[in-house]
Amino acid sequence: MVWRTILMILLICSGNTMLAQETKNTPPNIVVIFCDDLGYGDLGCFGHPTIATPNLDRMAVEGQRWTQFYVAAPVCTPSRAGLLTGRLPIRSGLCSSKRRVLFPNSAGGIPDSEITIPELLKSAGYATAMVGKWHLGHLPRYLPHRHGFDQWFGVPYSNDMDRNNKGPKGWDAFLEPKFEYWDVPIHRDDKIVERPADQRTLTRRYTEEALAFIETPREEPFFLYLAHSMPHVPLFRSDPFIGRSQRGFYGDVIEEIDWSVGQILDVLRSRNLASNTLVIFTSDNGPWLEYGDMGGSAGLLRAGKGTTFEGGMRVPTIVWWPGTAKAGVVSDLGATLDLLPTFCALAGVEAPPDRILDGSDISGRIRNQEASPRETVFFYRGSILYALRDGSWKMHLRSRPRSGAKEKIHETPLLYNLDHDPSEKKDLAKKHPQVIERLQKIAEAHRASLVEVENQMERVLPKNGQ
Ligand code: MG
Repeated sequence: MVWRTILMILLICSGNTMLAQETKNTPPNIVVIFCDDLGYGDLGCFGHPTIATPNLDRMAVEGQRWTQFYVAAPVCTPSRAGLLTGRLPIRSGLCSSKRRVLFPNSAGGIPDSEITIPELLKSAGYATAMVGKWHLGHLPRYLPHRHGFDQWFGVPYSNDMDRNNKGPKGWDAFLEPKFEYWDVPIHRDDKIVERPADQRTLTRRYTEEALAFIETPREEPFFLYLAHSMPHVPLFRSDPFIGRSQRGFYGDVIEEIDWSVGQILDVLRSRNLASNTLVIFTSDNGPWLEYGDMGGSAGLLRAGKGTTFEGGMRVPTIVWWPGTAKAGVVSDLGATLDLLPTFCALAGVEAPPDRILDGSDISGRIRNQEASPRETVFFYRGSILYALRDGSWKMHLRSRPRSGAKEKIHETPLLYNLDHDPSEKKDLAKKHPQVIERLQKIAEAHRASLVEVENQMERVLPKNGQ
């Protein structure tokens, strides 16, 4: 009887070990859902009182709600470069103080020398797909399937570009937008399949493309990068969402994105993929406050898109991996720059050893509640370091109160304790000169790590052509 019990215990133990190893050796599927200009305060689970986001709220309850998660830049192109390369955009040439994003007449894009998340995951046998907005160069050599994605369906740049003369002048076109006012193309890989994009159906069609990719039968793990065009202005939503939200047009748009997230999580659950799929939901920068009612909210954070205050670069982030990511609120520091080294660790691939990475592996925080290794965040506007955070302290060397406002250079830097004052209201510089001195040293060491590279943002095509 005793022997039988011992044998049973041994069998159970060895079975568990095998199971644990199996799980460990099977890299997870990875889904990144990246919104455009979604503010810190725009989701129910991040405190919005009237935008209904039941699917994201559920995702946050089942997963981790990261309250101090940052992007690499306060505007589209450099933010996306940071996410996909794990490097500050200053290192890839994908930022500039003159032209802050890529435009349809830009000649530059993501350099071949950069190594992207999908390229690394492909080397570990992943199937990779991108759906949505790229914005890292629209010329053929820069497109997603040349940089690690097996397939792409989406738009090459922002949905407010390629504006034609069919609509009212100025901002009026954004108040009652019609998709015909912009000639934005939709690509399927190299081919333009629609122009102008019927933007009313973008969120729905991106979702359908994402679901089709997830549901494709395959042996290998997959990586899906779903980069929504919304809620970047001009705002659009499909018919079932018109007039639905108490928050008006902007709320309708967020509620359609929430629906989309629900569709994706539902299909992961119904296909029994949830326990082996990591889903990260976040945004590329803060809300575009200049658009008033058509822009979002940064909640209690100061300022928005285009600024290096918290509202420009701290984004609402949810990490979901049922059974692995322990549910709860995470106030550790994290950043989109951390995704590349984190995914490498989860996939068992070495992160590129031949270059400086600005990300840290946060898989320990996701899986085991180990502290996030991130201590510092750099805040660039274009190619200039405006501010930095270390621990709870944030120092501003320069700032702009709004995206287009005049630059202020702070002879005595501004200093905020973000743990106590996330709204950056009370300047403590006079009280803590030693903190400023310490942060200045971090800034100096960081600057010393920079190497001049070719700028990708300032080169323009000879004519406004392809
Ligand atoms: Mg954006």
